[in-house]
Amino acid sequence: MSRCLVCLESLKSPLRYHPRCAKSLFGSTRIPTIDIEMGKLHTAALAMVGTTTLSGAQKKISLGLSTDRKTLQVAVDGGRYIFKPQTEVFPQLPQIEHLTMRLARLSGIEIAVSGLIEADGQMCFLARRFDRRADGSKVRQEDFCQLAQQRPADKYSGSGELCVRLIKKYASEPPLELRKLFEQMLFSWWVGNGDLHLKNLSLYVDEARIVRLTPAYDLVATVLLIADDELAMPIMGRNKNLLRTTWHKFAQYCELPDRVFQSVVARQIAALPKALELIQFSSLDRGTQDKLAQQLIACTALLQAPPKA
Ligand SMILES: [Zn+2]
Repeated sequence: MSRCLVCLESLKSPLRYHPRCAKSLFGSTRIPTIDIEMGKLHTAALAMVGTTTLSGAQKKISLGLSTDRKTLQVAVDGGRYIFKPQTEVFPQLPQIEHLTMRLARLSGIEIAVSGLIEADGQMCFLARRFDRRADGSKVRQEDFCQLAQQRPADKYSGSGELCVRLIKKYASEPPLELRKLFEQMLFSWWVGNGDLHLKNLSLYVDEARIVRLTPAYDLVATVLLIADDELAMPIMGRNKNLLRTTWHKFAQYCELPDRVFQSVVARQIAALPKALELIQFSSLDRGTQDKLAQQLIACTALLQAPPKA
């Protein structure tokens, strides 16, 4: 059975997308072809041996649709898509990013519209940008590195608590956005994403002029690629060995009511069975699927409330 390259649900072959899924990603049920020379996109692996981050290995190319919507091509300015091909360093990275994004959605997190697309015989990741409106105009958006007035190179010099303070300072409705931040950070830990750094969180001004968190983007279960990968930003001082109590303390730092903490954690726990199913629907090899399943099972167990004495 073939699987839709956006939602991973079953599909009648020979289609690659459900019509509604194609429409969400491409704005039309017609699938565009990609007009770029893949050979030129390969990242040199040499300098990347032993890397501990994705940033250097992953090429991000801005693409736009041609006016007849038949072709996705490199856009110098105003491209509405981010395109990420395979890398030489991290095998299956586009598929891992796609699955991680779908797992986030399954966990109740709003995500960037995204999917896989085949180009030159290889699977690539494609996401719609949300810093552009339909007419191509720019949306005001700043990532947390900019908000913290730190250089891009210092994107890993953050913490969960710094993100909380930035939201309190800049978001229009901090309680709402702090809950979303908490959900995103909890999910990232659950899925083994060690790349949630300051540039992978952003605030934007929506059409009603409300400053809020953007949908989640650049989510990757890096634990599948980098052995024992830790969180990019510590939560209450911890990059690893987080427990339910760590998340409880962080929820208190976020000033989330206790019932909100309980329900967010319960929802993450409840996502497990469907998440394990979704992993099997992905095109990742069996070993990688198993590793991700183990990650989710282990973190879900850590989130379970201790039995009452
Ligand atoms: Zn679909």
